[in-house]
Amino acid sequence: MSDLAAYSAAANAWLTSVAPIYGGAARKGLSEADDLALGRRYLKARYEAGYGGISWSKEFGGQGLSHIEKVAFETEEMKFGFPTHYFGISLGMPVPVLMKFCQDRDFVRDKVLKALTGEEIWCQLFSEPAAGSDLAGLRLRAEVDGNGWKLNGQKLWTSYAQHSDYGVIVARTDPAVPKHKGLTYYWVDLHSPGVDVRPVRLAGGDSHVNEVFFDDVRIEDNQRLSPVGGGFGVAMATLMIERYVATDSSGFGPHLDHFISLARDVQVNGQPAIRDGRIRSAIARNYAMRNGLDAITARAMLMMQAGMEPGPEGSLNKLVSVRSRQKLSELAIDLMGTDGVPFDPHALVKSDWSTSWLNAPTGRIAGGADEMLLNTIAERILGLPQDHRPDKGVPFNEIPA
Ligand SMILES: Cc1cc2nc3c(=O)[nH]c(=O)nc-3n(C[C@H](O)[C@H](O)[C@H](O)COP(=O)(O)OP(=O)(O)OC[C@H]3O[C@@H](n4cnc5c(N)ncnc54)[C@H](O)[C@@H]3O)c2cc1C
Repeated sequence: MSDLAAYSAAANAWLTSVAPIYGGAARKGLSEADDLALGRRYLKARYEAGYGGISWSKEFGGQGLSHIEKVAFETEEMKFGFPTHYFGISLGMPVPVLMKFCQDRDFVRDKVLKALTGEEIWCQLFSEPAAGSDLAGLRLRAEVDGNGWKLNGQKLWTSYAQHSDYGVIVARTDPAVPKHKGLTYYWVDLHSPGVDVRPVRLAGGDSHVNEVFFDDVRIEDNQRLSPVGGGFGVAMATLMIERYVATDSSGFGPHLDHFISLARDVQVNGQPAIRDGRIRSAIARNYAMRNGLDAITARAMLMMQAGMEPGPEGSLNKLVSVRSRQKLSELAIDLMGTDGVPFDPHALVKSDWSTSWLNAPTGRIAGGADEMLLNTIAERILGLPQDHRPDKGVPFNEIPA
């Protein structure tokens, strides 16, 4: 057994041992507050078991291992339905950015430990009503205020802001220069006066995304994590941190085996659906596609093991897997007939077809909308010409809005 296989096996053994306490079955029927509290306890247990901050430096309480062990652990962890989603963004992007760009090392050590053990949560305040795919089009202003700054404006779609203590934020500091050049990056305390967090209810029934309003919110200059006007570079660095995360060829939805059992259980034209040619062909197509995506992931892992950078072909994974999860979930609901209609707000995306289907559209937008991934594939894999960018080089305040 390779070292990595042994690491995954040990991780799986530990995860299996704690699954009855923190896993999917233990969470059923919990209120969001209780589920979050369980998540905080799971993070503490995970940290104490030596699986917190796997690829982070020991200086900050991490395990000092490589990104490969981190991905291997997360691949195992994903199988158990633990309440980790509240902390995914916090540990995925804002906290690593803090480690990389914040000069106050004692502050960073304290915040990293509190985030790793689930005591505190960080969110990522990038998107706005008119800035998502086009992040550099953001409008929230940061203006000089004595020896610090004052924030005014709105963010939108901020995941878990309602549970967060802090956030990383990109603001416009100079509207008179081209859009990418007038941005600056900060961290902000979400309990500051003038911050108003308002949850937005999604189609799937949950409200994990928020509108966040900033009304004369004062921050100190030592909360700045980029040079003034250099925020876009740190924003790109933030998005690159999570480029090689644990992927799931089922698009973070139910495993194909769930569909096969369903097709065995339900009838089409007086016989089990699994005997129907169209159902068999959907299973075969999904099986082939998922294996293809797994092969891309396996190749990326091998490249990382060999010290190389995987290429942009990872963009295929989310694009193809979430789209086909949506289609397969729709087919499953059709097969279930009226049994597919009831909606259980506590059901898990990985095991319930209606929940999977209802939540698939958000998966096709968050972390890069389908069309943006298609642009990446067109430009970076197929070598097609760049997307039309009419505002390139134009001062931000001269772009028609
Ligand atoms: C569940 C969820 C959680 C999120 N969490 C966070 C978070 O924690 N923090 C945060 O900052 N943001 C978050 N977001 C926001 C997310 O990053 C944006 O929604 C996403 O970048 C798309 O931006 P938009 O919503 O403004 O849509 P737009 O960018 O306006 O896109 C609208 C449509 O136009 C298409 N489009 C846009 N530009 C092009 C182009 N150049 N070529 C072709 N088609 C194009 C898009 O693909 C899309 O179909 C979250 C979103 C969701 C759904």
